[in-house]
Amino acid sequence: MRLYDTYSRSLVELPAAPGPIRMYFCGPTVYARAHIGNARPFVVGMWLRSWLRATGYDAQLVHNITDINDKIYDAAPGASAELAARATEWYLEDTRDLGLGMPDRLPKATESVAQIVHFIEELVEAGHAYAAGGDVYFRVASFADYGRLSGQKPDQVEQGEEPSALKEDPRDFALWKANKPATEDTWWDSPWGRGRPGWHIECSAMAEEIFGPVFEIHGGGLDLVFPHHENEVAQSRALGHPFAQIWAHNGMLRFTGEKMSKSVGNVATIRETIDEWGREAVLVFFLTASWRKPIDFSPETMEQAAARRDTLRNAFTLAAAGHDEAGWSAFAATLDDDFDTPAALAVLHEWASTGQLELLRRGLAIFGLESLAERDEAPAEVTALAERRAEARAERDFETSDRLRDELAALGWQMRDEPAGGYTLVRDA
Ligand SMILES: [Zn+2]
Repeated sequence: MRLYDTYSRSLVELPAAPGPIRMYFCGPTVYARAHIGNARPFVVGMWLRSWLRATGYDAQLVHNITDINDKIYDAAPGASAELAARATEWYLEDTRDLGLGMPDRLPKATESVAQIVHFIEELVEAGHAYAAGGDVYFRVASFADYGRLSGQKPDQVEQGEEPSALKEDPRDFALWKANKPATEDTWWDSPWGRGRPGWHIECSAMAEEIFGPVFEIHGGGLDLVFPHHENEVAQSRALGHPFAQIWAHNGMLRFTGEKMSKSVGNVATIRETIDEWGREAVLVFFLTASWRKPIDFSPETMEQAAARRDTLRNAFTLAAAGHDEAGWSAFAATLDDDFDTPAALAVLHEWASTGQLELLRRGLAIFGLESLAERDEAPAEVTALAERRAEARAERDFETSDRLRDELAALGWQMRDEPAGGYTLVRDA
């Protein structure tokens, strides 16, 4: 299998199975209900793990929770820890409801402060960081490869941090920040006094705490390439740790369409999207674009995803055709080639239209969609209406038959005639 790597700007072959393939995907900063775009790295990470395991790999996924951050202090002055804990629960609930299972580990920054402090101490000892006024900064000039991941020109680096007279060089970034009692209601003790870690060091420390100094894949949104991931590379490689071998950045979700661009705040949360469209439509939606490309979210694109879901589900009401094992290799080839889910989805539709139901069931299961293969049992009210309609038709009472057909449709069901006689009840697409 090969995947696109941001660092080398090329497709990189994964080590042969069974690997291991250790994956660290940056998770959310927890201060509100996460928006649907935040679900993308989660979904991509879980699908990659699923596919790798299905092809004989020992694959693990770590997805961190950033529960120490300025955004949390800003959102809940005086109660930031409570908000972070609540928003963590929301995120776990909402992602669990996608029905893909959960990552192997979900480390939290608040539970990793000791490792983070230790990491910073090593950087200071090695001359790659310095303490100043209770803060600690990474010395960018000390790391020759700085800017390689993101392609930043060293003289144009903007960290996006508040300017600080304590920095030796404006390009330097914070590893540790002294506590500001007026705005920050949580802090930890450290060799540099009370304070809290910077965002970037959290991920270097948590990834290495779990995987050690080298692992195969680091994922996250394209918006994290700079400064977050550039700084992770600098922190870890400055200490001589190889760190991530492949940098897998997912494309961003864009809110488009007339309704979305007019709606307040122009966002939809994971929760709202699952509640409105159902988890299967959400997953099919994510399948429609390559993981590296932007994906457009709007009522129109979600309607299209829901229609595709119905087509895939309704395939299971048709008679199964012969089983062609060679078909599976065509499907596998799409995913092994940079995890091309739109191409894989096209194969699933092909199987649906030709009745290759065993292959379809197996393919859907890779993406957490095996539930589409479970035939819905019609409720008693529906089967009773269907029986009456069958009788009306047998008596050639077409008026009653049409009325009952409409009543069934109003309940979301239709009767499909079987070639051998009789009928099957299927959910209306
Ligand atoms: Zn991160």
